[in-house]
Amino acid sequence: MSDNTVRIQDDLYEAVNGEWLKTAVIPEDRPMTGGFSSLDQDVEKTMMSDFRAFAAGEKTSDIPEMKYAVALYRKVMDTQRRNREGIAPMLPLLERLSAIKTVDELNRQAAELLLMEVDLPLQLSVDADMENAEKNSFLVMGPGIILPDTTYYAADNQQGKQLLGIWSDMAAKVLAFTPLSQTEREQYLADALAFDALVAKKVKSKLEWSEYYKCHNPMRVDDVAACVAPFDIKKLLTDLYGEKIPDTLIIYDPKAVKEMNGYFSEENFPLYIHWAYVRVLLKSTAFLSEEIAALGKTYSRALQGVPADPSLEKQAYQLVSRIYAEPIGVYYGRSYFGEDAKRDVVEMVRKIIETYKLRMKKNTFLAEETKEKAIRKLSTIEIKMGYPDEIKPIWSKLVFDENDSLLTIMTELISIRARDLLERLWKPVDRTEWVMPGHMVNACYNPSANDITFPAAILQKPFYSLKQSVSENLGGIGAVIGHEISHAFDNNGAKFDEHGNLKNWWKDEDFQAFEELTKGMIEQFDGIEYHGGKVSGELTVSENIADNGGMGVTLEIMHTLPNPDFRAYFINWARVWCMKAKEEFIQLLLSCDVHSPNVLRANMPPRNFSEWYEAFGVTEQDQMYIAPEKRISIW
Ligand SMILES: [Zn+2]
Repeated sequence: MSDNTVRIQDDLYEAVNGEWLKTAVIPEDRPMTGGFSSLDQDVEKTMMSDFRAFAAGEKTSDIPEMKYAVALYRKVMDTQRRNREGIAPMLPLLERLSAIKTVDELNRQAAELLLMEVDLPLQLSVDADMENAEKNSFLVMGPGIILPDTTYYAADNQQGKQLLGIWSDMAAKVLAFTPLSQTEREQYLADALAFDALVAKKVKSKLEWSEYYKCHNPMRVDDVAACVAPFDIKKLLTDLYGEKIPDTLIIYDPKAVKEMNGYFSEENFPLYIHWAYVRVLLKSTAFLSEEIAALGKTYSRALQGVPADPSLEKQAYQLVSRIYAEPIGVYYGRSYFGEDAKRDVVEMVRKIIETYKLRMKKNTFLAEETKEKAIRKLSTIEIKMGYPDEIKPIWSKLVFDENDSLLTIMTELISIRARDLLERLWKPVDRTEWVMPGHMVNACYNPSANDITFPAAILQKPFYSLKQSVSENLGGIGAVIGHEISHAFDNNGAKFDEHGNLKNWWKDEDFQAFEELTKGMIEQFDGIEYHGGKVSGELTVSENIADNGGMGVTLEIMHTLPNPDFRAYFINWARVWCMKAKEEFIQLLLSCDVHSPNVLRANMPPRNFSEWYEAFGVTEQDQMYIAPEKRISIW
């Protein structure tokens, strides 16, 4: 397992994963492998084999919603029909969009188009209100953009230009299937690009989005309406909700709304409508013929450096596992996740929360009353482990007529889910809802609910196994659990109280002390060279605080074990971050991902803890040494 040429004291990640890195092969249809991704590949393999058996009638599930999931799987697999129909199922919507010649006409149809996933000049959604997490609010954002981030639009960004070229080429090829003339197609494409360029000047960058709490900008609906005219948001709301519309909207993306006339107006309406046409066409390609579907994936493949499309079977499973996420997650959990493991990990979470509380009590930069509030927040964290006991009613509403074309079915399913989301506006927030399904290899903390979710799929080796030592499990899933809990106290989570409300519960001087430490964490990562680029300390600060917090609390638990094996702890920590990825994907993550590159996630946090130095006798002579005064521990 370990690479003898690299000393662990110099490079923990390389020493642990070096041998694996030499031989690991990235699957043709994926941007990376290792760690999370390898587990995901395994889950996919298992589930694909089950779906093959379901579709062949060799296997059945007692989960009623699975019947439709299997039917949809068969629809994707029916390439004969898809290829015969070609672009035809898409034509009614495309003709409808081409016929919209004025803003008035758009306003008349906006509510219907929203449900059909046609992009409006604003993105609209419903979610828990940040200041009052028990109620839902209506959210407003600027439109999505073609490139991964606004920074790619800078005049000197060569990558952005190259990617736009690939996107344009793809769009032109897909447009060639439509009834538009050559001249019209060129016009539509040029307009779409022009509109996108205008939008990119107004919407938030990834760095701005990373400060999540800044999304809460309530604005009177009349004021919003005045900003976004001639787009008639009040008419849209009335069409969606009837007479009673929300009097306040939450503006997630204030510049896009306040300066919307910078991209949307009567004059450049043609730019907008052609942009919307091209976008919905490209979004729908996956549900059309195989030829169109393959074309529609070229841009995302280029973006991630993925050479090949997944097999048809895999595409079918991937689509279905997104559309019927919760039932499939429950099926996965019930089939492949044991109750013993669930009990054991819940126990571990409780232990980590209790230890976190002890650490809060010992904290040196908080006043007593702030500590008490932090402890209260820890006491009320809700744990969602494995998969939900019950499947929410929305999933049984996702029914369709099997005689319809795949695209018609998908449009129907998407609109059922969109309507369900919009209808939540007047209902209280359902805190029992799961934000991640059981078959997803991931974990999360939700600041609005003050809860943590650990899907069944992540509770496997190397993260967790009943067969691994407790030290290894603590370095794996334990540190991930601690990471998620730490999000309650990262630079975003710290702004929310124990009920999930955006509310300042800190004494001013305590928060200042916290911000000082946060700055130290930004500096520790900022500018580290990686693959020809540099890590942004600001973009990754929440995650770096969480990684360090997760390590701090689990190391504390290590000291209470009868036979702690600190070496095994750090080795497994490094193992879970092993990753081999395509260069394009590495660059994409570096510019957009709020997480630091995996090698840094493995190698940076240990340096902040004395246990690391003791476990491997790390000294000033070694690469993974930093002076005690430079070590940062926040939580
Ligand atoms: Zn995180």
